[in-house]
Amino acid sequence: MKNYNVEDKGSKGIQISRNNRIVKKVTDFVKDLSRKERDMVLNGLVVSALIIPLAAAPLFSHATKSVERLKEKDGAVKTADQKGLTSRGEATTDQPAAPAPPEPAPAPEPPAQDPNLPPALTQKTENIDPVLIQRFDAFRTYIFQQSGVVLEINSGYRSTEHQAHLFNTLPPGQANPPGVSLHEKGKAIDYTNYSPAHNQHLQKFGLKLPFAGKEDWHIEAV
Ligand SMILES: [Zn+2]
Repeated sequence: MKNYNVEDKGSKGIQISRNNRIVKKVTDFVKDLSRKERDMVLNGLVVSALIIPLAAAPLFSHATKSVERLKEKDGAVKTADQKGLTSRGEATTDQPAAPAPPEPAPAPEPPAQDPNLPPALTQKTENIDPVLIQRFDAFRTYIFQQSGVVLEINSGYRSTEHQAHLFNTLPPGQANPPGVSLHEKGKAIDYTNYSPAHNQHLQKFGLKLPFAGKEDWHIEAV
């Protein structure tokens, strides 16, 4: 027992008294054994049971203290690490996902449709003579207001190549040869939903039907 630094307070003192209790228990146990058993025990077990722990106790105590010191240091480091990890973790796990792509701007609302006007002309209007398209628009507005039927451009301007293609592929008389048709000059419109009932109003709008009875959809300006 003199090996112990009994002046040390705290855990080491508690360790020593605990060892003392163990020694007393073992001694009592050995005293209660028969002589024969006691011989066996004394020859073997007591030596290992008493000597080894007692010899190891100071080492163990010292090692325990060292481990505790290491743990304290390690704990401090770990705490710091954890703080770092936390902040880093927040930076990664709580990082807001890649910014969502900006929502597409809402499509501009179409201008309110005047119930008295047909939908604006949007198709096949390119390269058509402005006077012709203006008159056709007035005509179709009138038809829409009279009957609710919407007239569109089925064929307007045609390149010479397109006119040649039509001439070569349509039945004879359905299209003029290239170089003759006013479609090639943007001065003719073939319109949809054509009918004699509509055509009787053409003249009021400065329009004519040059091939009446043959191309009742082909209109030109007067
Ligand atoms: Zn035509």
